[in-house]
Amino acid sequence: MCRRRQVCNVYLVCGHRLQLPDETITCDSEYCKFSPRHPPSCQPPRCTQTCWQYRQWPEQYSPNINSLCPTCSTAAGHKLVRY
Ligand SMILES: [Zn+2]
Ligand SMILES: [Zn+2]
Ligand SMILES: [Zn+2]
Repeated sequence: MCRRRQVCNVYLVCGHRLQLPDETITCDSEYCKFSPRHPPSCQPPRCTQTCWQYRQWPEQYSPNINSLCPTCSTAAGHKLVRY
């Protein structure tokens, strides 16, 4: 079942967060309306009985990144950036 993922990078060096555009993660189920494998011939009313009609609740993902955020690294100059 497909879902959205909301990614928020956390930069440990300066403590800033950066919200990234939502990602859509697709599944490969034929019984999911949003899947690439969902057959185009599957239409309501049948589809509403056999297939998922909603995306799953968005997943929150906040990776910790051991560097400055892009704004701070630009302000500080590239010499200080640690990757
Ligand atoms: Zn799906
Ligand atoms: Zn369907
Ligand atoms: Zn920053």
